Amino acid sequence: MRIQLLPSTFDGHGHATVEQRLTCFLVDDCVTVDAGSIAIALTPDQRDKVRDIIITHPHMDHIASLPIFIDDLYPTLTEPVRVHATPEVIELLERDVFNWNVYPRFSGLQNKYGPVMEYVPIPIDRPFSVAHLSVVAVPVNHIVPTIGLVVSDGKTSVAFSSDTAETDQFWETLNNTKHLDALLIEASFPNEMAELAEVSRHFTPSTLFKDLQKLNHNGIDILAVHIKPSYRDIIIRELKALNVPKLGVMEPGKTYTW
Ligand SMILES: [Zn+2]
Ligand SMILES: [Zn+2]
Repeated sequence: MRIQLLPSTFDGHGHATVEQRLTCFLVDDCVTVDAGSIAIALTPDQRDKVRDIIITHPHMDHIASLPIFIDDLYPTLTEPVRVHATPEVIELLERDVFNWNVYPRFSGLQNKYGPVMEYVPIPIDRPFSVAHLSVVAVPVNHIVPTIGLVVSDGKTSVAFSSDTAETDQFWETLNNTKHLDALLIEASFPNEMAELAEVSRHFTPSTLFKDLQKLNHNGIDILAVHIKPSYRDIIIRELKALNVPKLGVMEPGKTYTW
């Protein structure tokens, strides 16, 4: 399985920077987990292939350019862009984003080939298919309805925490996954901002360390993501100091293969 955290900012020469401001993971060049930078960081080839988007929750950093992506493709889509989300997240997207005020309600629009956007409601704690992948979604602990995911292609499984603070069901699901290759886990705030992390339901390196004790898979690759750009250096230092084996930081723009 090939996974890339799409870049979300670019330097003066147009090169991707290491900071992550938006969340969008590209899986096998055709499915994304979240859609923060989907309209600004895909290659033309990838843009032609991605038709399945899983949305973990409706926060702006996870959906920012989703409307623009569909807008860009509008005249050329020969099949709808499928947005896979829980019914409650679909309701929030329709109410707060695709509401004719912020952007058009694409789910009700067609081009000459047919519908341009389709919602696919996803179940909780039960496998469902997205393109060639089998996915399990479980609720995590964030301030809006949010899901973590285990994504499998039959050989390889990778877990995505999305945005969360201390949680149990996610770890239980990972522990029940026979073979897990990698975990992409959030680490949003530095330890000194534990209070803000708690009210906004995010991890710090220290609370992440505590929760990692619930994970039974030893020695898998663990990559920290969703590191707030303003505190990036200190968070990375604190993560290193945890001395967790194979814990690293995911680099935007780089393709990881498991
Ligand atoms: Zn969030
Ligand atoms: Zn977020």
